[in-house]
This record gives sequence, C-alpha cells and structure tokens, in this order.
Amino acid sequence: MNLAPYAMHAENSRGRRFSEPPHPYRSEYARDRDRIIHSRAFRRLEAKTQVFTTRFSDHFRNRLTHTLEVSQIARTVAAALGLNTELAEALALAHDVGHPPFGHAGEEKLDELMRAHGGFFDHNLHALRIVEQFEQRYLDFPGLNLTFEVREGIIKHSRDYPGDKFPQLAEYDLGLYPPLEAQIIDWVDEIAYNTADLDDAREARLLSLDVLLREVPLFAEHYAAVCSAYPDAPDKLRFNEAIKRVLDLLATDLIETTGQNVAQSAAQSAAEIRKAPSRLAGLSAEAGARNAELKKFLQAHIYRHPAILDDRIRSVRCLEELFAFYLLTPDAMPPFHAQLARKETRHIVVCDYIAGMTDQFLLRQHQERFGASRRSVN
Ligand code: MG
Repeated sequence: MNLAPYAMHAENSRGRRFSEPPHPYRSEYARDRDRIIHSRAFRRLEAKTQVFTTRFSDHFRNRLTHTLEVSQIARTVAAALGLNTELAEALALAHDVGHPPFGHAGEEKLDELMRAHGGFFDHNLHALRIVEQFEQRYLDFPGLNLTFEVREGIIKHSRDYPGDKFPQLAEYDLGLYPPLEAQIIDWVDEIAYNTADLDDAREARLLSLDVLLREVPLFAEHYAAVCSAYPDAPDKLRFNEAIKRVLDLLATDLIETTGQNVAQSAAQSAAEIRKAPSRLAGLSAEAGARNAELKKFLQAHIYRHPAILDDRIRSVRCLEELFAFYLLTPDAMPPFHAQLARKETRHIVVCDYIAGMTDQFLLRQHQERFGASRRSVN
C-alpha cells in the first residue's frame, strides 16, 4: 500500500492486548478486518433493522448490507486520500456491531431502561465489550484481540467521550482525535444511510417525490439534470441515478475537503492528526448545509412516518417487557449470561444479553415468554 505520511501505518500500531506473532502475509489491520467478518456479532447484523423492517420488502437495507455499503465507500475515500484502506475497512465493518435490535428506537429504549437503574446504554461501549469479551472464538485470548487503533476507532465513532466521566477508557487518550481512517467513517456512515434511506423509502412507497424535490435542493438539482438528459427513461431509474449522483458528490466533497483540511493543518503523521485542534475529516460548509437539508427531510418525513412508528412502538414494547422479565428471572437467560448475572450487576448483564439479540430472536423470545405476540412477526 502506498500510504500518505499522515495515514495510520500498520507498523506503527500500538498493538494488541495479548501479543501474537505477525502473520506471514496479512497486515495487522487486515487480520482485524478478517476477525470482524468472522465474528458472530457481525453475522447478527443481517437480522437487525437499519430503518425499514423486512415486513415491507426483502429489498431493504439491514444493518449488514448497510455496513457493506459503508465499507465500500470507506475504502474508496481512504484510497483517494492515501489512507490505510485495511484499517478503514476494519473500522467500517465494526462500526455498527454494538447496535441493539430495532435500530435507534431499541437503543433509546435500552438507555431509558438502564437509566432507571442509574446506568445507561451506549452502542460504542457495547461494541467494545463485544469485541473484548463476548466473542469467544480463540484459544489464546478472550474476544477478538483487535489492535489498539481498531478498538480506539470503535470508541471514537461519532462522538467524543469526556475523559473525566469515562475513566475506564483512559487508555484510549480521550483528549486526542482518532486517526483519519476512523474520522472518515462517521461521514461515510452518514453519506451511506442518507442516500440509502431515500432509496428504501421510495421502495416502501413512503416517499413523496414532490416534497423531496421541494425540500432537498441537493436532490432536486440532480434529479432535474437526469430528467432532462433522460426524458424518456423510467422514473425509477432516473431516481436511482439522482441518488447515485448525490452520493458521488458527497463522497467527492468529503475526499476534497478532508484533503484540504489536512494540507492546511500541515500534519505529517498520524500522531499529528491526533493532536490537531479539531477533527480534520469533514464536508465543506456548502455540502454540509445541503446534506443537512437531506437529513432534515428524512427525519421529518421518513423516520417518523406512521408506518415506521407503529412497527417501532410494538417492537420496543416487546424489548421492554423482556428486559423486566430477565431482570426478575435471570436463569431464563442462557447459562453464560445467567451465571454472569449472579456475579455482576444484573441489569447490565440483562442489557448486554438483549442488546446482542437480533430483531427476530427478540420477538421469538417475547412470544415464548408472553404467548401471542402483539406484533405480527413477518
Ligand atoms: Mg451505521
């Protein structure tokens, strides 16, 4: 790999918790990427909702296909910037493994239930526990024994944790930013889901093209250009082409703006990227503002659409009832969690168990415990 000086070079890695001999032909980050792909948590992404449940169609993104899209865009962006594509890919593949069932609604509900016990739920911290403790695959160590930079990227995904509130994360140097390979993931994630959610919303017939054209100039301009170039093409293909152009514009802007920010900072190493006064990956002010309009549209018209909300309310109620059930009856959990619940704080163990569930597994458990499901299982 021909890397820029400010890229994260695998030979400069701070290494793994349990040292291992180097692999003859895979870099440390390539090994991390491969371990993530072979993990159970990664396979479970297939049965976790992104936004739309399979109740509408089998063609929607789930968290696994979303993750693959993020990984594809991340590799492109990383390569264009001279960054370490293997590290970017590992981080992209891991970025959603800590998500509980039922998307953000599930996350909010778990957090609310945990707060009643003086705790909280956070998907980055949960992802870290998955890769450090819950994945049991190897003879020589617990978890996946990932490199420092991948664990750090998991923790520094999409938010900054104040060091005084999270002393347990002190080893991750919370006052420093992560390398660019981690910083781009937040943006790539957003570019991937903003465009994909438009596509899925159209497929679910929840999207009004008129409202979209009125409220999202970024889309409207590309759509108009496509329609005038292809006046007789089917609507669906013109819509897809416009989405593709929006995605391309945002990814290109991310590459160019990040490149300019790095040049202005004069950072010459990953260590200097970490110490820069702010995160250097990002969109230009103009593209950022236009992307924000797209995001606002999705929030106002799609994520809160009654068809999505109804499904979500029923699912989240099942999650809440199961949480209460396992808290009272910890032995109803599998032996690993039941034993843990005797030694450790019970609500945390219950939370971890539920957070690891897929949507369908949770609904099946609910049906087994409470009889007839109040939600029609797809
Ligand atoms: Mg994501």
